[in-house]
Amino acid sequence: MRSFVPTDIYVEKDCVKNHANQMLAVGTRALIMTGRHSAVANGSLNDVESVLNSGNIPFQVFDEVEENPSTDTVRKAVQVAQGFKADFVIGVGGGSAIDAAKAVSLLLLNPAVDADDLHKASSSPLDHAPVVAVPTTCGTGSEATPVSIITNHGIQLKKSIPHVIFPALALVDGKYLASAKKQLIVNTAVDALSHMVESILNIKSNAFNRMFPEYGLKLWGECKSALLSDAAIDSGLYEKLMLTSTIAGMSIAHTSTSVPHGMSYDLTLHAGVPHGPAVGYFLAAYTEICAKFVPEDVQKILSLLGLKNIEEFAAMLRKLIGTCTIPSALRDQFAAAMKKNRSKLDLVPGAITAADIDFIYEKSLVVESN
Ligand code: NAP
Ligand code: ZN
Repeated sequence: MRSFVPTDIYVEKDCVKNHANQMLAVGTRALIMTGRHSAVANGSLNDVESVLNSGNIPFQVFDEVEENPSTDTVRKAVQVAQGFKADFVIGVGGGSAIDAAKAVSLLLLNPAVDADDLHKASSSPLDHAPVVAVPTTCGTGSEATPVSIITNHGIQLKKSIPHVIFPALALVDGKYLASAKKQLIVNTAVDALSHMVESILNIKSNAFNRMFPEYGLKLWGECKSALLSDAAIDSGLYEKLMLTSTIAGMSIAHTSTSVPHGMSYDLTLHAGVPHGPAVGYFLAAYTEICAKFVPEDVQKILSLLGLKNIEEFAAMLRKLIGTCTIPSALRDQFAAAMKKNRSKLDLVPGAITAADIDFIYEKSLVVESN
């Protein structure tokens, strides 16, 4: 058994300021990558810029990262980073900004690789420039995973790139959630929940790496009623939500995600569904299938979440993210592709069948005839 998350991770209020020295030690010229608005609105960009200014580290901001970042955006950012002679990359934002920062860090040290080739495996591991991650959503845990999920619109593919890119440093501060709408917090918390459930219901799960999702699910259970209530999230919960998300990232760093994530990418790419709900729609039915293979693990998940059975789990997810309607032709197209997705199917802790996959789609989506 092995546990390996080589990122220096701090989770605390004001941790960008508190750990300025660690950030200043990472490199000498920084490319900061953000989305268009949120990093300014929630104060995270200002915190990072203040630290860099205090250490006289020159930086350039690239603020064009879109949700589900594309190879085109990565290519553009690499050109900016090269022109600026950046030697490290700081991703400030949700999973999109951090994943894009990871991809840029890889191409900075491998200029012969085009962004459109990011999804191709290389014969030997590729180096990357150091990455600092400052997350501002409580979902992806990208600050603690080796994964970067990039969309190539040219070939209609949303997928993780086959390169290992752990951030050198992660500075996790719940205060950045203050600017987030309740539904964004809920959507991203459902992503974190999915990471932990998929990590346990996974062939790579073992007694050692379970310490992450089991602890994280307990924390998630403590946030459950606040997420389900109609009231705004109390600011006292921000740090716990962020910590849970980082722990969920550490969970999938050991096992990777499984079938619900594999199913979600088509739903995001072809139907525009945000990542958290796109995964969450499939989570209860996947759990129901896994109950055939690993019933004790399913019971453990439900009890950590304070739920009696899978029906309650499904009802909770419906209350959080509603339902998703897609045309039957699209559903059939997604199901056919999923039946060939060995990289995810081989992680299921039992012999999942084509009929099981059809069952998950049937149960998870509302289908309208074309
Ligand atoms: P996101 O796509 O990064 O951001 C979603 C939206 O939230 C954007 O409009 C963003 O605005 C806004 N936002 C971010 N932080 C905010 C805040 N504090 N207050 C208000 N608005 C805020 O969302 P995400 O769910 O965090 O990331 C999803 C991506 O991560 C997907 O591509 C998914 O596949 C990937 N992912 C990666 C991993 C991994 O291990 N690497 C794991 C799971 C998912 P701006 O655009 O203005 O910033
Ligand atoms: Zn996810």
